[in-house]
Amino acid sequence: MQKIVSFSKRRGFIFLSSEIYGGFSSCYDFGPLGVELKNNIKKAWWDEMIKKHDDIVGLDASILMNPKVWKASGHLTAGFADELVECKRCHHRFRKDFLKKNKCPDCGGELTKPHKFNLMMKTFVGPVEDEAAETYLRAETCQGIYVNFKNVLQSMRQKLPFGIAQIGKAFRNEINPKDFIYRTREFEQMEMQWFCRSKEAPKFFNYWKKERMNWYLSLGIKKANLRAVEVPKQELPHYAKRAVDIQYKFPFGWQEIEGIHNRGDWDLSNHSKHSNEDFKYEGYFPYVIETSVGVDRSLFAFLCDAYQEVKGGRTKTTKAVKEVEILLKLDKSLSPIKVAVLPLVKNKPKLTKKAKEVYQMLKPYFMTQYDEVGSIGRRYRRQDEVGTIFAITVDFDTLEKNDLTVRDRDTMKQERVKIKNLTSFLKEKLEK
Ligand code: ATP
Repeated sequence: MQKIVSFSKRRGFIFLSSEIYGGFSSCYDFGPLGVELKNNIKKAWWDEMIKKHDDIVGLDASILMNPKVWKASGHLTAGFADELVECKRCHHRFRKDFLKKNKCPDCGGELTKPHKFNLMMKTFVGPVEDEAAETYLRAETCQGIYVNFKNVLQSMRQKLPFGIAQIGKAFRNEINPKDFIYRTREFEQMEMQWFCRSKEAPKFFNYWKKERMNWYLSLGIKKANLRAVEVPKQELPHYAKRAVDIQYKFPFGWQEIEGIHNRGDWDLSNHSKHSNEDFKYEGYFPYVIETSVGVDRSLFAFLCDAYQEVKGGRTKTTKAVKEVEILLKLDKSLSPIKVAVLPLVKNKPKLTKKAKEVYQMLKPYFMTQYDEVGSIGRRYRRQDEVGTIFAITVDFDTLEKNDLTVRDRDTMKQERVKIKNLTSFLKEKLEK
């Protein structure tokens, strides 16, 4: 875990937010490579939902909503609260359901009786901090989907069953944010709500559970590190009739990365009750099957799964055989950088000029990096470390024959390719 955290910082994936002021409240910033990885994960999910399925459409609802939304959804009542206990001696606070024993895990002190702690983050809209302007940062993106159910149904002329997908920030005042970016107070969700008839809900639940498991496997997550776990009836969230957690085997154990929920007609019927809108379709309230994944949590899982340490080194050009080399074996669609262009040596102007031309040629098509600093072996290693799929070397033969060496990250096989064929060669290889 410590290795992943320091690697993430060293290679520009994830930084502690407001680090120069000592950080803030378990918030994190995504660096230049982190934001690329994050965008690639979001694109992979969006393509999976919207491009693959004719009957799913997208939405981007606002974070701030009328507070009545949260009253209707049950988030302001005990339904969306965790049980909080405090140590009477050191005053540290804990989520009761996370504790193995009934005493303080930090100092062994006695704990207070649990009380309910609501996770909604309050904020004030407008210049006067009076009650009328009080609202909340959304705790889940899906409520924006439910309140727009009819708008989407009518404007897009949808028929049941169909789905609405959305990616966006959510906020929860977590009692114990922990494990790096696993549990934070500000995070991003990718949620799809599938509206269907009640009697078809069990069938679609199983369908989506399978689809979502396959999505992780198709993006390279190892089968042994992924599992689906049924949530026991007594632990179901307030809105759910059935729930399955998709879990990943993190360095700190099996933990949820995605929830598949049968939300019944809880949301649509409650919004109908609390608003002037009737969300019935052909005389009944549709059931909702939800797939809900955290962008940050899944990114963390993809990072952990891809991170490998190769003892003794893997590149033949490397003299430092005693060193451990890092290989980030991300799926090619997720890797932040697809292609690196490297002149064989730095101090030959003809070589660097040619390499820069190749770099400019590739840049419009692929996320490309130019690097001329250090030995070629060291530069290959730097690219392997961040998961770059192809490293291209421009050497003296290139100047004569207009071809260059393309090195594959995984096989380390090197292939000579003509410059004029390079773009189409890479396009073909990088396509799924
Ligand atoms: P947990 O039991 O871990 O608190 P949850 O069951 O309340 O999570 P859901 O409400 O089902 O989570 O949220 C769906 C997904 O949103 C989770 O699977 C996770 O990927 C993400 N998520 C929820 N809370 C957080 C958080 N505090 N930090 C990062 N991601 C989160």
